[in-house]
Amino acid sequence: MSSPSLAQFALVDGNNFYVSCERVFRPALVGRPVIVLSNNDGCAIARSNEAKALGIKMGAPWFQIKHLEADANLVALSANFELYGDMSDRMMQVVGRFAPVQEIYSIDESFLDFEGIRDDLVTLGKRLRAEVLAATGIPTCVGFGPTKTLAKLANHIGKTAERKPGLYPADLAQVCNLGAEGKQGTARLGQLFRATEVGEVWGVGPRISAQLNAAGVATVADLIKLDLATIRKRFSVVLERTVMELRGTRCIAFDDEPAAKQQIMCSRSFGTPVLQLDELVEAVTVFASRAAEKLRGQGSATGAVSVFIRTSPFRKQDRQYSQSVTVPLRRPTGDTHAIVSSAVRGLEAIYRDGYRYAKAGVMLLDLQPKDLAQGELDLVGGSGPDGTSHDEGRDRSRLMSAIDRVNQRYGRGSLTVASAGTEAVAKSWTMRQDRRTQRYTTSWDEMPIARA
Ligand SMILES: [Mg+2]
Repeated sequence: MSSPSLAQFALVDGNNFYVSCERVFRPALVGRPVIVLSNNDGCAIARSNEAKALGIKMGAPWFQIKHLEADANLVALSANFELYGDMSDRMMQVVGRFAPVQEIYSIDESFLDFEGIRDDLVTLGKRLRAEVLAATGIPTCVGFGPTKTLAKLANHIGKTAERKPGLYPADLAQVCNLGAEGKQGTARLGQLFRATEVGEVWGVGPRISAQLNAAGVATVADLIKLDLATIRKRFSVVLERTVMELRGTRCIAFDDEPAAKQQIMCSRSFGTPVLQLDELVEAVTVFASRAAEKLRGQGSATGAVSVFIRTSPFRKQDRQYSQSVTVPLRRPTGDTHAIVSSAVRGLEAIYRDGYRYAKAGVMLLDLQPKDLAQGELDLVGGSGPDGTSHDEGRDRSRLMSAIDRVNQRYGRGSLTVASAGTEAVAKSWTMRQDRRTQRYTTSWDEMPIARA
């Protein structure tokens, strides 16, 4: 692994997050098997460790496991996305105090960049866990690594070492630093890699995982031995990038991260602080539009839109403010206008004058297959999202696909909804990217050039 001491990311992840949120307010649920069910109580979207031990799989339909209520004392709760959105915001605030750069990746995961920080990271991770637990009641695991993929993997090892003792060394439970493992020599790191299946690696989905297994590549140790050119040819540039990250070379930028499974998040730290509501409206409009585009790209609809704004805890001279709100939608939708207007309404409700805002974000919760949402629209008889007529709804969905196609072909932001402003106006809220490495593999402009 190349110079793991130079850069360290942490991934902080809430354990069984939705269940943990529920347990904070209903301590009697601690120790019992608990699941949270998706919209309309369709299937399990979160499971306590006890529920996992009963063999309940992620996405298990409720009717198939309902008998466990009587047989195994299982508690099933309907999802409460407003609660989860609020708990997430509290957790992210505490986590964000630990490093100057925080990237919120999903409702319960954020990356911290510890570049240049020389503290003992495991001790720091333990303190972080304790502070989040004391402030919110949410248990977390913390993984450190020189790349985001390794930090993700370290987090997985920390979580698994706690939940299923035996697979990994017990001292890695809850807080695991793969950078330190690398420094101690390769023996134990190699052992960890041999104990980890390729399917556990960030961005390696079930399909690639099956292809790798068929090719005799079962573990992370097998995967990192493969030749990069071969990986690119037989699999993809994305997998090549993943393998480079596993070997310790940073190459995943924030925008190119593999998608989170259960939420869609778009957030940014602002290059310079933002004071005015109309500038925040522009930023939130862009984030919500991008989130809606990703949503449609994966064939989903959303039932709840969450928006947050906050000042920087590192600008001690500034008055501090942080707030979030989750707006439930009347009908699940993939419509940019419906999503943007909910996000902007939420923003207007939480905005306070006189603060220097450093960060804002939009998150889509309660994702469900678009067809399901569409079926529901049919049932209510011609009334689409935002009270549009059925035909109007279908036209809107065609318009959204057209916008997505144009943006894919001509670049993001070619077509947007009106409140996003225009490119001609220099936006003070755009992200500072001076510490971003080149997008070698995903941007034509930044591809490395070989000269003969
Ligand atoms: Mg989690």
